Amino acid sequence: MRDTLIIGAGLSGLTVAQTLRVRCYGHRFLLLEKAGKAGGAIRSHAEDGFIAEAGPHGFLDNCRESQDLLSSIGLDSECIHAPLSRFSRYVYLQGALRQIPQTPLALLTTTLMPWKEKFRVLADLWKKPLEGEPTVAQWASYHFGPALLPFVDAALTGTYAGDMDRLAIGAVMPGLRQQEQLHGSIIRAILAAQRNRTGPRRLSLPAMTSFKAGMQSLPDRLVDFLPETDLLLNCGVTSIDKTEYGWQVESSQGSFQAANLVLALPVNASLALLKNFDIPAQEIPEAWIATVVLAFAKEVRLPPGFGYLAPESEGRFSLGALFSSNMFPGRAPAGCTLIEVLVGGRRHPERVDLNDGTLIQNALQDIKGILGIAQDPIHARVLRNNGGIPQPEQGYAELLAWRNQTMGSNPGLFICGFGWDGIGINHMIKAADGIAERIMGRHPEQDASIKGVYF
Ligand SMILES: Cc1cc2nc3c(=O)[nH]c(=O)nc-3n(C[C@H](O)[C@H](O)[C@H](O)COP(=O)(O)OP(=O)(O)OC[C@H]3O[C@@H](n4cnc5c(N)ncnc54)[C@H](O)[C@@H]3O)c2cc1C
Repeated sequence: MRDTLIIGAGLSGLTVAQTLRVRCYGHRFLLLEKAGKAGGAIRSHAEDGFIAEAGPHGFLDNCRESQDLLSSIGLDSECIHAPLSRFSRYVYLQGALRQIPQTPLALLTTTLMPWKEKFRVLADLWKKPLEGEPTVAQWASYHFGPALLPFVDAALTGTYAGDMDRLAIGAVMPGLRQQEQLHGSIIRAILAAQRNRTGPRRLSLPAMTSFKAGMQSLPDRLVDFLPETDLLLNCGVTSIDKTEYGWQVESSQGSFQAANLVLALPVNASLALLKNFDIPAQEIPEAWIATVVLAFAKEVRLPPGFGYLAPESEGRFSLGALFSSNMFPGRAPAGCTLIEVLVGGRRHPERVDLNDGTLIQNALQDIKGILGIAQDPIHARVLRNNGGIPQPEQGYAELLAWRNQTMGSNPGLFICGFGWDGIGINHMIKAADGIAERIMGRHPEQDASIKGVYF
């Protein structure tokens, strides 16, 4: 019998555990993890001196809860940073790589859009809120006109690997959608949010963050801080039940009971365990990605930046590529280049099912054309993640309302994890931190702040 059972030892479950350990001395918890290793979607791959990622490549250093978590495990001093101000991102548009404008001023002065289209963006100032549950494409087109759509597509490809014609704006940017109801215009909503912002102001753009040995260092270090007896690996939970005393869990390693139960799982894994709770949907769509790792013996002349994304309208094989050896030091031996090509996503799940040889061949052909690479790689590898990226599409708002109501009417039940309150590392840490606070009887405020779409 423990105070709290946490199902799932991905970043969400590990964060709940670490927060309870640090802020609630004596709280007894047990993490139950189906796999033989903790970390979930986070998986770094080191081979022949190259370091690549099957999951996340990094996160922005602009979230207080993430920074607190890193300090609590001494990983704050081991971060490596790639500031957005120094590293460009590119979009492949009309057959060439073009720098993505990263600030509103850069957007207004970019030569990528004719003045007529820029004036159309400003027409947003006179818009009323768009009613209903629009997709991101419908919403962006209504407020800013169709010229911005390739950039919106690239942003959603780079985060959700999603389809802007299916993703719901209310789920992707809930804070912004809420402000739209007050202001009508998105530009006015953003200006008002900046005026009303409290706390210290950050003038510079944030930095993409990772660790010398890759993102895997984060779950590995969180596990190092857990007493061995508090984490049970190879323990898949098969059902959960409410009892007189709290919660009972059946698993591949027997039954467990506790007063509190945290589901720190991707949305679909949670729904599978919540079948007896009148779930409004059996599952939600996911976007699967394969990463094709291509390593070159000689330095390839890459544009200075993180990488590029290709909107669907360009008809390319890959979603985009990360210039990994540009981004972080130590990703490739001296003089070599590492590029990670992302394939699949919500629109092309069939491409993830291709065999490794075909994936490598197609990805290589794609980037050779775009980046003008003449040499062949000395090393190529396909990395496949063991989970897809949850897609908040039509009906997601209803699912989220049901989740909140289910937590409210079932004391001791807490639901967070991949896809519920966002999809990025920072979202996971912030939500898991909030769940730990609630377990401790505190009530963290609902966050309706306007967040950037990228990480
Ligand atoms: C390909 C890819 C690229 C990404 N890139 C980025 C990025 O660049 N930046 C960024 O910020 N975010 C990125 N993300 C998102 C980021 O990885 C996630 O936000 C985060 O890792 C999710 O953590 P989690 O613990 O909520 O879920 P998960 O990592 O999915 O962990 C859930 C855990 O629960 C376990 N589990 C499942 N079912 C059961 C069960 N029944 N019983 C017991 N255990 C169970 C699983 O084995 C798993 O270990 C990416 C994700 C993917 C897939």
